[in-house]
This record gives sequence, C-alpha cells and structure tokens, in this order.
Amino acid sequence: MSLWERANRVLPGGVNSPVRAWKAVKGRPLFIRKAKGPKIYDINGNTYIDYVCSWGPMILGHAHPKVTKAIKRAASLGTSFGAPTRLEVELAEMIVEAVPSIEKVRMVNSGTEATMSAIRLARAYTGKNKVIKFDGCYHGHADDFLVKAGSGLATFGIAASPGIPHDLVKHTLSLPYNDIEAVEEAFSRSGEDIAAVIVEPVAGNMGVVLPKEGFLEGLREITDKYGAVLIFDEVITGFRIGWGGAQAHYNIMPDLTCLGKVIGGGLPVGAYGGKKEIMSLVAPEGSVYQAGTLSGNPLAMAAGLQTLRILKEEGIYKKLEKRTEELVDGIKAIARDEGVPLQINHIASMFSIFFTDEPVNDYNSALKSNTDLFIKYFYAMLKRGIYLAPSAFEASFVSLAHRKKDIDYTLKAVKESLKEIKEI
Ligand SMILES: *Cc1c(COP(=O)(O)O)cnc(C)c1O
Repeated sequence: MSLWERANRVLPGGVNSPVRAWKAVKGRPLFIRKAKGPKIYDINGNTYIDYVCSWGPMILGHAHPKVTKAIKRAASLGTSFGAPTRLEVELAEMIVEAVPSIEKVRMVNSGTEATMSAIRLARAYTGKNKVIKFDGCYHGHADDFLVKAGSGLATFGIAASPGIPHDLVKHTLSLPYNDIEAVEEAFSRSGEDIAAVIVEPVAGNMGVVLPKEGFLEGLREITDKYGAVLIFDEVITGFRIGWGGAQAHYNIMPDLTCLGKVIGGGLPVGAYGGKKEIMSLVAPEGSVYQAGTLSGNPLAMAAGLQTLRILKEEGIYKKLEKRTEELVDGIKAIARDEGVPLQINHIASMFSIFFTDEPVNDYNSALKSNTDLFIKYFYAMLKRGIYLAPSAFEASFVSLAHRKKDIDYTLKAVKESLKEIKEI
C-alpha cells in the first residue's frame, strides 16, 4: 500500500490541512522527506526548488543552521515548562520593537488562535458584536471567519462550512477587498454594532493582491470615526514585507495586529498584540480569557527569536527583494516573449502569477484567471524540479536561501513550461 493510501485510511483526505491534498490541481501530493536551504526532497528521491516555503514561515530557507542550533539547544534544556521563560520575553520585546503599533503582545500557537483571540478582544473592548472581513482574505479557521465570500452588502453571515451556528456568523459581514465604499455603506447601516474590521493589509490567500491607494487609509478613518477596532492580520506579511510588516510599509497603524508564520521560524507560533489600552484587557491583567498550555513554548520561541535576529541584520530585506525582483521581472519578460497573458502581483518577497490579461484587485478578479492553465503550468514546473503551491490562489515565497543560480534555473523552467502549456 502506498503512503498516500495509508494516509487516506487514517487521516481525513490523507492530510492534516486541506490545501496540502492537491485537490485544486487534481493530483496527489508529494511526501516530503527533508528540506535544506531553497530545496525540498521527496520520499521518491526527487529534488525541487521550493516556492511554498511552508506557506510562508521559511523566510531564511529550510533548516537554517543557526535556527536548527537554537532549537537543539532549547530542546536539550527541556521542551515545555508551563512557566515563564526568558525566551518569550525576548521574542515579545523584539516584536514590540519591530512592529510600530504593538505595545504589548500575547503568544499563541497558530495564526488561527491569534485572529480568534483578537476578535474576542475587540468585542470586549468595544462592547459590540459585528465583524467586517473581506472576500478572499483568510484569517484561519475560527467560526467567525468562515463566512461565504461574495454575499456583498445584502447578507450578514452565510457559513462557508457546516458546523457553524447561524447565530454566530450572522455577526460577520464579508465585503469586496479594495472597496472602501462598501465599507462606508456597511458602517452607515450598522456602524453602532461593528466591533472590528479585520483585513490582510496585503492579501496573500487569494494569491497576492495589493491594497489600492487609499484602501487601508480609508479603513483607518472609518473605524476611528465609528469606534471600531482595526485589526491587521499580518500572519503572512509580518516580518515578510519588511521588519515592521505591512503597517510600517504603508505607514498605517492598526489597533491590533495578528502575527504567525515567520515569527515562529518554522515552529507553531502565533501572536496578537497592539495598543496597551486594548491588550491590558487580556487575562490575567484584564478579564478577557485566553490561555494556552504550550503558548510561548521554548522551542518555538528559540526558533522565532533566532529567525528575527537574522532578519534584523542590515540589508537583509533589500537582498530578498532584489532576488525576488530578478525572478518576477524574468517571468514577465518570458511571458511577453511567449505571448502568454498573465498578471504578476508582487511585493517584497511574495508574488503570485494569475493567468489573465486583466488586473487582479480583489477576489472576483482573481477568480477570473484561468485555473486550467495554472494546473498545466504547475505540473510543467514540477516536472522541471520547481515546487509551487498546488493552487492558483496562493502566494509564492522567496527565501534568503534562494541564490542567483536557483532563480536562473527557475526562469529556465518558466520559459520551457510556458512554451509547453501554450501548445496544449
Ligand atoms: C496562515 C494564515 C492564518 C492562519 O494561521 P495558521 O497558523 O494556519 O492557523 C491566518 N491569517 C492569515 C493571513 C494567514 O495567511
């Protein structure tokens, strides 16, 4: 029996997180044996240049020697105590120093935990119930956020998954990304009961979609006007777009920020933080309950801390950005030469390719891209040793371990792949 068959007998769909199952590319996933630097190795002996980077965390590349050493050292000192440690204070200090709007932060174990806790806190702080999110943004799998996209202004809350009480999602409204007028209208209707607006300041879960000029500013103004909490979900963008995340890049200060992915250096970590005034409501300082047996885990803190220490070094983000630009510019030039219409949305070391000739600014325009062509491209690249996210609506990530020769190799594969899929 193959490992995939064995997996399917004991794990729902054979995986522990749905997108890993390759349903969107109608295939079977690779089983990974190990990874090092920019490369991953499957159990059949194939090697790939990796642009998934564990969906974002591996910004230094896989198994960075300093991070591995920090984890080993922490492990040898005991893996969990359920008591305060120096490491969690140091990581918190680093986050507070780096992320402009965070004065206090609480460590949790995943991005999902961070967003669900931030919403509870926003509701407690404002005494209000409703939450606005945006179509195509992902904020983890907590009940509040699993609301069908595209319902527009008409309906608060249609659950996107069975098992979610209507009484809960009726408080969530999903609006089109980059549509500030829709937000204004929602607030003018229900502003007195809106606790929070949660947004990916750069969207990374419908592919990469950048905020239009004025969108984030508009969210800040409207939430200020109505006394709602503005939450930036920077689980992807935090320490990815730059040292201070998207909020530093665009110079817009949210009230609360959710972090994850990069801050764990490849171990399970999330965090939420923000203004003292709001964070002081979190137990035990305040009465908003939120806890975790393994929160602030020493292995995770050690990996995160070492990762951030390296990222803090002079010129690191410039270097990452330059490398990503070489790749993105290269792909654009090849697509032009080959006459394949595509859009590349790109910021810092994250990018997405959409097979469409129209700009992608929101979920609806992302959905207009040609997913059949993406699937062909995905397999054409895989065959040439390039591992992309197995869905047309995911971000690609470049790490510090991707060298010039990896980029050159990738561009060669892009050229051959685009030629190949054109002919089909
Ligand atoms: C990945 C992600 C999450 C969820 O984080 P998990 O650690 O998978 O729970 C939340 N928000 C955004 C923007 C993400 O990309």
